[in-house]
Amino acid sequence: MPFTFLSHQAPVLPFKRLWPRMDGVALVAGSAMPDFAFAFSRHVNVPSHEGAMFFFWNLPLGIAAAYALRHAFLPVYAPLSPFRNFRGFAQVVRRRPSIFNTSISAIFGSFNHVMVDHFTHENALGPRWFPRVYGIHVPEPFRDLAQLLQVVFTIAFAPIALALFAKIGREKIGEFGDVSPLSPADRRARWAVLGAAVFLGALAAIPTPGSGFATPVLRGATTFFAVAILFGGAFRQRST
Ligand SMILES: [Zn+2]
Repeated sequence: MPFTFLSHQAPVLPFKRLWPRMDGVALVAGSAMPDFAFAFSRHVNVPSHEGAMFFFWNLPLGIAAAYALRHAFLPVYAPLSPFRNFRGFAQVVRRRPSIFNTSISAIFGSFNHVMVDHFTHENALGPRWFPRVYGIHVPEPFRDLAQLLQVVFTIAFAPIALALFAKIGREKIGEFGDVSPLSPADRRARWAVLGAAVFLGALAAIPTPGSGFATPVLRGATTFFAVAILFGGAFRQRST
């Protein structure tokens, strides 16, 4: 995998721009789900990158994650952003896509994830389809082109994803207006929760023997979102 966050979202966001009616939140959630299994252990072998698991793993998790992001994460924490465009994501809650739209978007997001993976891993479709291209000599310290592409995608796609997110956020403001400001007490409470979520995520990301790199990072990210969403739900409950 190129890094799960941002590098996997950059390739799905243009589709949201192409078909604005797609459920963008589910698209983004779906594009992260195939790697979710790694959060538990490198050794939990959920074949989330192939076949039936698109329907039994990526789809239900993608729908659940999209729901949580739409209702208990973005509307709660996006208003804290210092950037106006990103505050616009609080408005995602104003749209209620159909479950069909959410499902298609989540599946498409995870399929896109796997396609990107295929061109950034040895023994995957990319190297098998284009053996000559993938056989070219790459400079040290890279093992092969697939590994080089992983790093290139991870670095190059992050700013692209952020730029596309900023554009989409601005459109949300254009469509639904600016987000109403929070009271100082409310801001403080939400920042405190975010801080606690980052702290607990960092604790969960401490590597354990034999855990490799991906598992601690994904474990940390999962913990962060779990804490933030749990409290996010409580904040929403209180404010309605
Ligand atoms: Zn992957």
